[in-house]
Amino acid sequence: MSVIWWIRRDLRLADNATLQAALAHDGCVIPLFILDPHLLARTPERRQAFLFNGLQALDADLHQRGSQLIVRHGKAKIVLENLLAQTSASDIFAEQDFTPYARRRDMAIANDLPLTLVPGQTVHHPTAVCKANGAPYTVYTPFARTWKSLLPPALTPLPAPASLTPPPSLPSERLPSNPENPFFPAGEFEAKKRLAQFTDFPIYQYATTRNRPDLDGTSSLSPYLRFGMISMRQAVCAALAAMHHAADVAQKQSAETWLNELIWREFYINILYHFPQVSKTSFKPALAHIQWRNNVTDFAAWKSGQTGLPIVDAAMRQLAATGWMHNRTRMLTASFLVKDLLINWQWGERWFMDTLLDGDPAANNGGWQWVAGTGTDAAPYFRIFNAVLQSRKFDPHGDYIRKWVPELAHLPQETIHAPWEKNIQIPGYPPRPIVDHILTRAWTLQAYHEAKKGAVKSEQ
Ligand code: FAD
Repeated sequence: MSVIWWIRRDLRLADNATLQAALAHDGCVIPLFILDPHLLARTPERRQAFLFNGLQALDADLHQRGSQLIVRHGKAKIVLENLLAQTSASDIFAEQDFTPYARRRDMAIANDLPLTLVPGQTVHHPTAVCKANGAPYTVYTPFARTWKSLLPPALTPLPAPASLTPPPSLPSERLPSNPENPFFPAGEFEAKKRLAQFTDFPIYQYATTRNRPDLDGTSSLSPYLRFGMISMRQAVCAALAAMHHAADVAQKQSAETWLNELIWREFYINILYHFPQVSKTSFKPALAHIQWRNNVTDFAAWKSGQTGLPIVDAAMRQLAATGWMHNRTRMLTASFLVKDLLINWQWGERWFMDTLLDGDPAANNGGWQWVAGTGTDAAPYFRIFNAVLQSRKFDPHGDYIRKWVPELAHLPQETIHAPWEKNIQIPGYPPRPIVDHILTRAWTLQAYHEAKKGAVKSEQ
Protein backbone atom coordinates (compact mmCIF):
# COMPACT_ATOMS: atom_id res chain seq x y z
CA MET A 1 0.00 0.00 0.00
CA SER A 2 1.36 3.46 -0.87
CA VAL A 3 1.10 6.77 0.96
CA ILE A 4 1.24 10.34 -0.32
CA TRP A 5 3.86 12.84 0.88
CA TRP A 6 2.14 16.15 0.14
CA ILE A 7 4.99 18.66 -0.13
CA ARG A 8 4.15 22.31 0.68
CA ARG A 9 6.85 24.29 2.49
CA ASP A 10 9.25 21.38 3.07
CA LEU A 11 11.25 21.13 -0.15
CA ARG A 12 13.99 18.95 1.31
CA LEU A 13 14.94 15.35 2.00
CA ALA A 14 17.12 15.91 5.09
CA ASP A 15 15.53 16.56 8.47
CA ASN A 16 12.08 16.02 7.09
CA ALA A 17 9.86 14.52 9.79
CA THR A 18 6.93 14.35 7.36
CA LEU A 19 8.86 12.27 4.86
CA GLN A 20 10.08 10.04 7.71
CA ALA A 21 6.49 9.58 8.96
CA ALA A 22 5.43 8.59 5.45
CA LEU A 23 8.36 6.18 5.14
CA ALA A 24 7.41 4.52 8.43
CA HIS A 25 4.44 3.03 6.58
CA ASP A 26 4.99 -0.10 4.50
CA GLY A 27 4.97 0.43 0.77
CA CYS A 28 6.08 3.29 -1.37
CA VAL A 29 5.90 7.04 -0.80
CA ILE A 30 4.41 9.19 -3.57
CA PRO A 31 5.98 12.69 -3.40
CA LEU A 32 3.36 15.16 -4.57
CA PHE A 33 3.37 18.89 -5.16
CA ILE A 34 0.09 20.64 -5.97
CA LEU A 35 0.07 23.78 -8.08
CA ASP A 36 -2.98 25.25 -6.38
CA PRO A 37 -4.32 28.22 -8.39
CA HIS A 38 -5.27 30.02 -5.17
CA LEU A 39 -1.70 29.91 -3.87
CA LEU A 40 -0.12 30.63 -7.24
CA ALA A 41 -2.24 33.77 -7.59
CA ARG A 42 -0.78 35.01 -4.30
CA THR A 43 2.81 34.12 -5.20
CA PRO A 44 4.55 36.72 -7.38
CA GLU A 45 6.45 35.57 -10.42
CA ARG A 46 9.93 35.76 -8.95
CA ARG A 47 9.00 33.78 -5.84
CA GLN A 48 7.20 31.26 -8.08
CA ALA A 49 10.38 30.88 -10.12
CA PHE A 50 12.38 30.22 -6.94
CA LEU A 51 9.77 27.66 -5.87
CA PHE A 52 9.70 25.90 -9.26
CA ASN A 53 13.50 25.75 -9.41
CA GLY A 54 13.51 24.37 -5.87
CA LEU A 55 11.01 21.70 -6.91
CA GLN A 56 13.18 20.78 -9.89
CA ALA A 57 16.18 20.41 -7.58
CA LEU A 58 14.08 18.25 -5.24
CA ASP A 59 12.95 16.11 -8.18
CA ALA A 60 16.59 15.58 -9.17
CA ASP A 61 17.41 14.51 -5.58
CA LEU A 62 14.43 12.14 -5.60
CA HIS A 63 15.56 10.62 -8.92
CA GLN A 64 19.00 9.96 -7.43
CA ARG A 65 17.24 7.85 -4.78
CA GLY A 66 15.00 5.96 -7.20
CA SER A 67 11.88 8.12 -6.81
CA GLN A 68 10.34 11.12 -8.54
CA LEU A 69 8.15 14.14 -7.90
CA ILE A 70 4.54 14.06 -9.07
CA VAL A 71 3.19 17.52 -9.93
CA ARG A 72 -0.53 18.16 -10.31
CA HIS A 73 -2.44 21.35 -10.99
CA GLY A 74 -5.76 22.11 -9.27
CA LYS A 75 -7.55 22.68 -5.99
CA ALA A 76 -5.72 20.75 -3.29
CA LYS A 77 -8.68 18.67 -2.12
CA ILE A 78 -9.71 17.61 -5.62
CA VAL A 79 -6.14 16.70 -6.60
CA LEU A 80 -5.72 14.63 -3.43
CA GLU A 81 -9.08 12.85 -3.91
CA ASN A 82 -8.15 11.95 -7.47
CA LEU A 83 -4.70 10.71 -6.54
CA LEU A 84 -6.06 8.62 -3.66
CA ALA A 85 -8.56 7.02 -6.07
CA GLN A 86 -5.90 6.49 -8.74
CA THR A 87 -3.31 4.89 -6.46
CA SER A 88 -5.37 3.41 -3.59
CA ALA A 89 -2.93 5.19 -1.27
CA SER A 90 -3.96 4.74 2.35
CA ASP A 91 -2.74 8.05 3.86
CA ILE A 92 -1.57 11.55 3.14
CA PHE A 93 1.26 13.09 5.18
CA ALA A 94 1.99 16.81 5.15
CA GLU A 95 4.12 19.18 7.21
CA GLN A 96 1.94 21.32 9.44
CA ASP A 97 1.71 24.90 8.21
CA PHE A 98 0.53 27.62 10.59
CA THR A 99 -0.77 30.44 8.39
CA PRO A 100 -4.51 31.14 8.76
CA TYR A 101 -5.14 30.07 5.14
CA ALA A 102 -3.20 26.80 5.49
CA ARG A 103 -4.91 25.94 8.76
CA ARG A 104 -8.40 26.45 7.24
CA ARG A 105 -7.51 24.46 4.14
CA ASP A 106 -5.96 21.57 6.08
CA MET A 107 -8.82 21.36 8.55
CA ALA A 108 -11.34 21.13 5.71
CA ILE A 109 -9.29 18.44 3.95
CA ALA A 110 -8.68 16.43 7.14
CA ASN A 111 -12.45 16.28 7.68
CA ASP A 112 -12.87 14.19 4.54
CA LEU A 113 -9.51 12.65 3.66
CA PRO A 114 -6.91 10.63 5.63
CA LEU A 115 -4.56 13.59 6.18
CA THR A 116 -1.94 13.48 8.95
CA LEU A 117 -0.18 16.77 9.74
CA VAL A 118 3.36 16.40 11.01
CA PRO A 119 5.12 19.21 12.94
CA GLY A 120 8.43 20.33 11.42
CA GLN A 121 8.14 23.91 10.23
CA THR A 122 9.24 25.17 13.64
CA VAL A 123 11.43 23.75 16.38
CA HIS A 124 8.63 24.18 18.92
CA HIS A 125 4.95 24.02 18.06
CA PRO A 126 3.25 27.43 18.56
CA THR A 127 1.11 25.96 21.32
CA ALA A 128 4.19 24.66 23.19
CA VAL A 129 5.85 27.98 23.99
CA CYS A 130 3.40 29.68 26.31
CA LYS A 131 3.21 31.41 29.69
CA ALA A 132 2.69 29.48 32.91
CA ASN A 133 -1.05 30.19 32.66
CA GLY A 134 -1.17 28.79 29.13
CA ALA A 135 -1.57 32.19 27.43
CA PRO A 136 0.59 32.98 24.38
CA TYR A 137 3.53 35.34 24.72
CA THR A 138 3.25 38.74 23.05
CA VAL A 139 6.71 39.96 24.06
CA TYR A 140 9.82 38.51 22.42
CA THR A 141 12.29 38.30 25.34
CA PRO A 142 10.27 36.02 27.66
CA PHE A 143 9.15 34.03 24.60
CA ALA A 144 12.80 33.46 23.65
CA ARG A 145 13.70 32.49 27.22
CA THR A 146 10.97 29.84 27.38
CA TRP A 147 11.74 28.73 23.81
CA LYS A 148 15.35 28.04 24.79
CA SER A 149 14.36 26.28 28.02
CA LEU A 150 12.25 23.83 26.00
CA LEU A 151 15.16 22.66 23.82
CA PRO A 152 15.93 18.98 24.39
CA PRO A 153 19.47 18.16 25.67
CA ALA A 154 20.39 16.94 22.18
CA LEU A 155 18.81 18.19 18.99
CA THR A 156 19.82 16.02 16.04
CA PRO A 157 18.51 16.59 12.51
CA LEU A 158 17.07 13.54 10.75
CA PRO A 159 19.15 12.15 7.89
CA ALA A 160 17.95 12.14 4.28
CA PRO A 161 16.84 8.66 3.17
CA ALA A 162 19.57 6.89 1.18
CA SER A 163 17.08 5.34 -1.24
CA LEU A 164 13.35 5.36 -1.91
CA THR A 165 10.94 2.83 -3.40
CA PRO A 166 9.91 4.05 -6.87
CA PRO A 167 6.27 5.25 -6.93
CA PRO A 168 3.87 3.69 -9.46
CA SER A 169 4.03 5.21 -12.91
CA LEU A 170 1.75 8.26 -12.73
CA PRO A 171 1.11 11.21 -15.00
CA SER A 172 2.84 14.37 -13.78
CA GLU A 173 2.72 17.89 -15.13
CA ARG A 174 5.83 19.73 -16.21
CA LEU A 175 7.07 22.57 -14.04
CA PRO A 176 7.66 25.81 -15.92
CA SER A 177 11.38 26.27 -16.44
CA ASN A 178 12.88 29.52 -15.21
CA PRO A 179 16.32 31.07 -15.27
CA GLU A 180 18.05 30.66 -11.89
CA ASN A 181 18.14 33.80 -9.71
CA PRO A 182 21.92 34.46 -9.69
CA PHE A 183 21.72 35.82 -6.13
CA PHE A 184 19.69 32.89 -4.80
CA PRO A 185 20.06 29.59 -6.66
CA ALA A 186 17.20 27.41 -5.40
CA GLY A 187 17.39 24.03 -3.69
CA GLU A 188 18.43 22.04 -0.66
CA PHE A 189 22.05 21.69 -1.78
CA GLU A 190 22.53 25.47 -1.97
CA ALA A 191 20.74 25.97 1.37
CA LYS A 192 23.02 23.46 3.10
CA LYS A 193 26.08 25.04 1.51
CA ARG A 194 25.09 28.50 2.77
CA LEU A 195 24.37 27.24 6.26
CA ALA A 196 27.71 25.41 6.42
CA GLN A 197 29.65 28.43 5.12
CA PHE A 198 27.92 30.87 7.44
CA THR A 199 28.27 28.77 10.59
CA ASP A 200 31.89 27.91 9.77
CA PHE A 201 33.07 31.45 10.57
CA PRO A 202 30.87 34.49 9.70
CA ILE A 203 28.51 33.56 12.54
CA TYR A 204 31.31 34.53 14.97
CA GLN A 205 31.32 38.08 13.60
CA TYR A 206 27.56 38.32 13.18
CA ALA A 207 27.02 40.40 16.33
CA THR A 208 29.10 43.20 14.82
CA THR A 209 28.43 42.77 11.09
CA ARG A 210 24.71 42.00 11.05
CA ASN A 211 23.63 45.65 10.91
CA ARG A 212 25.89 46.55 7.99
CA PRO A 213 24.11 46.31 4.63
CA ASP A 214 27.44 47.03 2.89
CA LEU A 215 28.89 43.72 4.18
CA ASP A 216 27.86 40.08 3.63
CA GLY A 217 27.42 39.71 7.37
CA THR A 218 24.19 37.70 7.51
CA SER A 219 23.37 34.17 6.37
CA SER A 220 20.98 35.12 3.49
CA LEU A 221 19.12 31.91 4.27
CA SER A 222 15.65 33.46 4.52
CA PRO A 223 14.33 32.34 1.09
CA TYR A 224 15.49 28.77 1.85
CA LEU A 225 13.87 28.75 5.28
CA ARG A 226 10.71 30.22 3.70
CA PHE A 227 10.30 27.15 1.46
CA GLY A 228 11.81 24.61 3.82
CA MET A 229 14.83 23.92 1.60
CA ILE A 230 16.54 23.86 4.96
CA SER A 231 14.70 23.27 8.24
CA MET A 232 14.64 25.50 11.30
CA ARG A 233 15.99 22.53 13.28
CA GLN A 234 19.00 22.28 10.97
CA ALA A 235 19.66 26.00 11.36
CA VAL A 236 19.20 25.88 15.13
CA CYS A 237 21.45 22.80 15.44
CA ALA A 238 24.16 24.60 13.47
CA ALA A 239 23.82 27.69 15.71
CA LEU A 240 24.06 25.55 18.86
CA ALA A 241 27.09 23.70 17.48
CA ALA A 242 28.77 27.02 16.66
CA MET A 243 28.10 28.21 20.21
CA HIS A 244 29.61 24.99 21.53
CA HIS A 245 32.75 25.31 19.40
CA ALA A 246 33.24 29.05 19.93
CA ALA A 247 36.81 30.04 20.79
CA ASP A 248 35.81 32.64 23.37
CA VAL A 249 32.88 34.37 25.05
CA ALA A 250 32.54 36.99 22.31
CA GLN A 251 32.27 34.32 19.62
CA LYS A 252 29.74 32.39 21.66
CA GLN A 253 27.62 35.50 22.16
CA SER A 254 27.81 36.26 18.47
CA ALA A 255 26.54 32.78 17.55
CA GLU A 256 23.80 33.17 20.14
CA THR A 257 22.79 36.48 18.54
CA TRP A 258 22.10 34.55 15.34
CA LEU A 259 20.13 31.93 17.27
CA ASN A 260 18.05 34.79 18.68
CA GLU A 261 17.19 35.94 15.16
CA LEU A 262 15.98 32.45 14.31
CA ILE A 263 13.79 32.65 17.41
CA TRP A 264 12.28 35.92 16.11
CA ARG A 265 11.06 33.87 13.18
CA GLU A 266 9.30 31.44 15.49
CA PHE A 267 7.99 34.33 17.60
CA TYR A 268 6.15 35.83 14.63
CA ILE A 269 4.81 32.41 13.59
CA ASN A 270 3.53 32.12 17.15
CA ILE A 271 1.90 35.58 16.96
CA LEU A 272 0.14 34.86 13.67
CA TYR A 273 -1.02 31.49 15.01
CA HIS A 274 -2.58 32.90 18.19
CA PHE A 275 -3.66 36.29 16.81
CA PRO A 276 -4.63 35.64 13.16
CA GLN A 277 -6.35 39.05 13.02
CA VAL A 278 -2.90 40.68 12.67
CA SER A 279 -2.92 39.77 8.99
CA LYS A 280 -5.85 42.19 8.55
CA THR A 281 -5.34 44.88 11.19
CA SER A 282 -3.03 46.30 13.86
CA PHE A 283 -2.24 44.10 16.82
CA LYS A 284 -2.81 47.20 18.94
CA PRO A 285 -6.46 48.19 18.46
CA ALA A 286 -5.66 51.75 19.58
CA LEU A 287 -3.59 52.22 16.41
CA ALA A 288 -5.96 50.56 13.97
CA HIS A 289 -7.39 53.83 12.60
CA ILE A 290 -4.55 56.19 11.75
CA GLN A 291 -5.34 58.98 9.25
CA TRP A 292 -2.70 58.10 6.65
CA ARG A 293 -1.68 60.51 3.90
CA ASN A 294 -1.40 57.61 1.42
CA ASN A 295 0.01 59.76 -1.38
CA VAL A 296 0.25 57.50 -4.45
CA THR A 297 3.04 59.53 -6.08
CA ASP A 298 5.18 59.18 -2.95
CA PHE A 299 4.37 55.46 -2.84
CA ALA A 300 5.49 55.05 -6.47
CA ALA A 301 8.76 56.91 -5.70
CA TRP A 302 9.38 54.62 -2.71
CA LYS A 303 8.74 51.45 -4.73
CA SER A 304 11.03 52.50 -7.57
CA GLY A 305 13.89 53.79 -5.41
CA GLN A 306 13.45 57.46 -6.40
CA THR A 307 12.78 59.12 -3.04
CA GLY A 308 15.96 61.20 -3.08
CA LEU A 309 17.17 59.52 0.12
CA PRO A 310 20.15 57.47 -1.08
CA ILE A 311 20.03 54.70 1.56
CA VAL A 312 16.28 54.16 1.05
CA ASP A 313 16.67 54.15 -2.74
CA ALA A 314 19.62 51.74 -2.55
CA ALA A 315 17.57 49.30 -0.49
CA MET A 316 14.48 49.48 -2.69
CA ARG A 317 16.66 48.90 -5.76
CA GLN A 318 18.41 45.98 -4.07
CA LEU A 319 14.97 44.48 -3.52
CA ALA A 320 13.96 45.07 -7.14
CA ALA A 321 17.20 43.57 -8.47
CA THR A 322 17.55 40.54 -6.22
CA GLY A 323 14.27 39.80 -4.42
CA TRP A 324 15.99 40.30 -1.06
CA MET A 325 16.87 43.19 1.22
CA HIS A 326 19.11 43.46 4.27
CA ASN A 327 17.28 43.53 7.63
CA ARG A 328 18.63 46.95 8.63
CA THR A 329 17.41 48.50 5.39
CA ARG A 330 14.06 46.66 5.65
CA MET A 331 13.60 48.53 8.93
CA LEU A 332 14.74 51.81 7.39
CA THR A 333 12.66 51.64 4.22
CA ALA A 334 9.61 50.53 6.19
CA SER A 335 10.09 53.34 8.68
CA PHE A 336 10.51 55.86 5.86
CA LEU A 337 7.27 54.69 4.22
CA VAL A 338 5.22 54.69 7.40
CA LYS A 339 6.67 57.53 9.43
CA ASP A 340 8.10 59.92 6.86
CA LEU A 341 5.58 59.43 4.05
CA LEU A 342 2.73 58.56 6.42
CA ILE A 343 1.61 55.72 4.15
CA ASN A 344 -0.34 52.82 5.63
CA TRP A 345 2.06 50.06 6.71
CA GLN A 346 -0.24 47.53 5.01
CA TRP A 347 0.66 49.02 1.61
CA GLY A 348 4.31 48.38 2.35
CA GLU A 349 3.56 44.93 3.73
CA ARG A 350 1.81 44.04 0.46
CA TRP A 351 4.66 45.42 -1.66
CA PHE A 352 7.22 43.36 0.26
CA MET A 353 5.03 40.26 -0.13
CA ASP A 354 4.92 40.98 -3.88
CA THR A 355 8.66 41.36 -4.25
CA LEU A 356 10.55 39.37 -1.58
CA LEU A 357 11.74 35.84 -2.30
CA ASP A 358 11.40 35.18 1.43
CA GLY A 359 7.99 36.94 1.61
CA ASP A 360 6.37 35.20 4.54
CA PRO A 361 2.99 36.10 6.07
CA ALA A 362 4.23 35.83 9.67
CA ALA A 363 7.71 37.42 9.48
CA ASN A 364 6.64 40.14 7.06
CA ASN A 365 3.60 41.13 9.07
CA GLY A 366 5.64 41.04 12.27
CA GLY A 367 8.37 43.21 10.74
CA TRP A 368 5.95 45.82 9.40
CA GLN A 369 3.90 46.04 12.57
CA TRP A 370 7.11 46.30 14.60
CA VAL A 371 8.31 49.25 12.53
CA ALA A 372 4.89 50.91 12.46
CA GLY A 373 4.65 50.59 16.24
CA THR A 374 1.27 48.87 15.88
CA GLY A 375 2.37 45.33 16.71
CA THR A 376 3.36 43.13 19.60
CA ASP A 377 6.60 44.06 21.21
CA ALA A 378 6.82 46.88 18.70
CA ALA A 379 9.15 49.85 18.65
CA PRO A 380 7.25 52.69 20.37
CA TYR A 381 5.44 54.72 17.69
CA PHE A 382 7.26 57.94 18.63
CA ARG A 383 10.67 56.39 17.87
CA ILE A 384 11.29 57.54 14.31
CA PHE A 385 14.40 56.58 12.40
CA ASN A 386 16.44 59.38 10.88
CA ALA A 387 17.44 57.75 7.59
CA VAL A 388 20.50 59.96 7.06
CA LEU A 389 21.94 59.26 10.51
CA GLN A 390 21.24 55.55 10.03
CA SER A 391 22.92 55.66 6.64
CA ARG A 392 26.08 57.27 8.05
CA LYS A 393 26.17 54.78 10.89
CA PHE A 394 25.46 51.50 9.09
CA ASP A 395 26.87 52.20 5.60
CA PRO A 396 29.79 54.30 6.83
CA HIS A 397 31.74 54.43 3.56
CA GLY A 398 28.64 54.63 1.35
CA ASP A 399 29.50 51.36 -0.43
CA TYR A 400 25.96 49.97 -0.22
CA ILE A 401 24.60 53.16 -1.78
CA ARG A 402 27.29 53.09 -4.48
CA LYS A 403 26.43 49.50 -5.38
CA TRP A 404 22.69 50.02 -5.84
CA VAL A 405 22.44 53.70 -6.85
CA PRO A 406 25.17 53.91 -9.49
CA GLU A 407 24.39 57.53 -10.38
CA LEU A 408 25.76 58.46 -6.92
CA ALA A 409 28.79 56.16 -7.13
CA HIS A 410 31.23 59.04 -7.75
CA LEU A 411 30.31 60.85 -4.53
CA PRO A 412 32.70 60.67 -1.57
CA GLN A 413 31.52 59.29 1.76
CA GLU A 414 31.13 62.81 3.17
CA THR A 415 28.34 63.71 0.75
CA ILE A 416 26.87 60.44 -0.52
CA HIS A 417 24.41 60.03 2.35
CA ALA A 418 22.75 63.43 1.84
CA PRO A 419 23.96 65.12 -1.40
CA TRP A 420 21.36 67.91 -1.18
CA GLU A 421 22.99 69.22 2.00
CA LYS A 422 25.92 70.35 -0.17
CA ASN A 423 23.70 71.39 -3.08
CA ILE A 424 24.99 68.55 -5.23
CA GLN A 425 22.68 67.89 -8.18
CA ILE A 426 22.85 64.59 -10.03
CA PRO A 427 21.12 64.32 -13.42
CA GLY A 428 18.27 61.81 -13.24
CA TYR A 429 18.25 61.70 -9.44
CA PRO A 430 15.82 63.70 -7.23
CA PRO A 431 17.50 66.98 -6.18
CA ARG A 432 16.32 66.53 -2.57
CA PRO A 433 14.23 64.00 -0.59
CA ILE A 434 10.56 63.96 -1.54
CA VAL A 435 9.66 64.92 2.04
CA ASP A 436 11.28 66.92 4.81
CA HIS A 437 12.03 64.61 7.72
CA ILE A 438 11.47 67.24 10.42
CA LEU A 439 8.09 68.25 9.01
CA THR A 440 6.79 64.74 8.42
CA ARG A 441 7.95 63.66 11.84
CA ALA A 442 5.55 66.19 13.30
CA TRP A 443 2.68 65.02 11.02
CA THR A 444 3.28 61.43 11.99
CA LEU A 445 3.34 62.05 15.70
CA GLN A 446 0.13 64.05 15.35
CA ALA A 447 -1.59 61.30 13.31
CA TYR A 448 -0.63 58.58 15.82
CA HIS A 449 -1.64 60.78 18.71
CA GLU A 450 -5.06 61.47 17.14
CA ALA A 451 -5.60 57.75 16.50
CA LYS A 452 -4.87 56.96 20.14
CA LYS A 453 -7.16 59.75 21.34
CA GLY A 454 -9.94 58.54 19.03
CA ALA A 455 -9.60 54.99 20.31
CA VAL A 456 -9.82 56.14 23.93
CA LYS A 457 -12.97 58.22 23.13
CA SER A 458 -14.71 55.32 21.40
CA GLU A 459 -13.97 53.11 24.42
CA GLN A 460 -15.70 55.60 26.77
P1 FAD B 1 19.94 36.36 9.25
O1 FAD B 1 20.30 37.62 9.94
O2 FAD B 1 21.02 35.46 8.82
O3 FAD B 1 18.94 35.58 10.23
C1 FAD B 1 18.71 34.18 10.08
C2 FAD B 1 17.24 33.88 9.90
O4 FAD B 1 16.51 34.31 11.05
C3 FAD B 1 16.61 34.61 8.74
O5 FAD B 1 16.84 33.92 7.53
C4 FAD B 1 15.14 34.61 9.14
O6 FAD B 1 14.51 33.37 8.85
C5 FAD B 1 15.22 34.75 10.65
N1 FAD B 1 15.08 36.16 11.02
C6 FAD B 1 16.06 37.07 11.18
N2 FAD B 1 15.55 38.25 11.59
C7 FAD B 1 14.22 38.08 11.68
C8 FAD B 1 13.13 38.92 12.05
N3 FAD B 1 13.32 40.20 12.44
N4 FAD B 1 11.89 38.42 12.01
C9 FAD B 1 11.67 37.14 11.64
N5 FAD B 1 12.65 36.29 11.29
C10 FAD B 1 13.90 36.75 11.31
N6 FAD B 1 11.89 37.83 7.09
C11 FAD B 1 11.40 36.85 6.31
O7 FAD B 1 11.90 35.72 6.37
N7 FAD B 1 10.35 37.07 5.47
C12 FAD B 1 9.76 38.30 5.34
O8 FAD B 1 8.80 38.46 4.59
C13 FAD B 1 10.28 39.37 6.13
N8 FAD B 1 9.77 40.61 6.03
C14 FAD B 1 10.28 41.63 6.82
C15 FAD B 1 9.71 42.92 6.73
C16 FAD B 1 10.20 43.94 7.52
C17 FAD B 1 9.59 45.32 7.41
C18 FAD B 1 11.27 43.71 8.40
C19 FAD B 1 11.80 44.82 9.25
C20 FAD B 1 11.82 42.44 8.52
C21 FAD B 1 11.34 41.39 7.72
N9 FAD B 1 11.91 40.09 7.79
C22 FAD B 1 11.37 39.09 7.02
C23 FAD B 1 12.94 39.76 8.79
C24 FAD B 1 14.40 39.90 8.33
O9 FAD B 1 14.60 41.14 7.73
C25 FAD B 1 14.83 38.80 7.37
O10 FAD B 1 14.48 37.55 7.87
C26 FAD B 1 16.36 38.83 7.18
O11 FAD B 1 16.77 40.07 6.69
C27 FAD B 1 16.76 37.73 6.22
O12 FAD B 1 18.13 37.78 5.97
P2 FAD B 1 19.11 36.61 6.46
O13 FAD B 1 18.55 35.30 6.06
O14 FAD B 1 20.45 36.95 6.01
O15 FAD B 1 18.96 36.76 8.04
